[in-house]
Amino acid sequence: MPPRMPNWRALNWLRPSPEPPIHEAGDPFAMARERMVEEQIVARGVHDERVLAALRAVPRHAFLPEHLRHEAYLDTPLPIGSHQTISQPYIVALMTEVLGLEGDERVLEVGTGSGYQAAVLSLLAHEVFPIERHAELATNARQVLARLHCSNVEVVIGDGTFGLAGHAPYNGIIVTAGAPHVPQPLLDQLAPGGTLVLPVGEATSQMLEVWRRTSAGLERKEVTPVCFVPLIGEHGWRDDVCA
Ligand code: SAH
Repeated sequence: MPPRMPNWRALNWLRPSPEPPIHEAGDPFAMARERMVEEQIVARGVHDERVLAALRAVPRHAFLPEHLRHEAYLDTPLPIGSHQTISQPYIVALMTEVLGLEGDERVLEVGTGSGYQAAVLSLLAHEVFPIERHAELATNARQVLARLHCSNVEVVIGDGTFGLAGHAPYNGIIVTAGAPHVPQPLLDQLAPGGTLVLPVGEATSQMLEVWRRTSAGLERKEVTPVCFVPLIGEHGWRDDVCA
């Protein structure tokens, strides 16, 4: 079977609109983005065509402060304010691929940050619920996602270590901040057949873990060492972890 392509209906910014869309023929970053996908992502072994198409489509520069836009397609995390970072493009691609999305899923993202990961997910899943503890980041992410017409995304402000019971269960849960252990509410909100991907370990270095709810119970797999900002909350680190 050919791979199912992303949810192009959500790619409204590719359509003609009264306001000039961010991603258009004259996008000055189009080539840099293409190089990012080939050199940082395909070269390191991410081959899911839907994931690659989403990474090619989402204008990463739109999620960065003006003065950092020219660095948007570099092989690195970047600061987004409130002492937080937008993740390295390869890690976004890898974690997204692990979720194995086909287009029908409901996905929870803990740690919205800039909103970039949420935009990528919005092209690959049916509904996306990103949750962010910093109101300022959440508000900014909401605005960028709205400008890009990501209409299947609803950004929530709060402590994502509790998950988001109101919309549970989730087929996919992605945590983009490092947890000291797997928050139990996230496991509880994982649907049968669902996948949870998250960094677990110390405050400054973690192992990327994948949890799957199978008919035989929960399965856990380790993927690769990673380095995320801490997950702060009731089922995460205390907020003086970096003090
Ligand atoms: N996915 C983001 C990058 C995340 S950086 C992007 O694409 O830009 C990690 C984010 O997790 C930070 O914004 C931080 O504020 C947030 N965070 C940390 N602990 C959290 C919690 N308990 N609930 C929700 N967000 C949290």
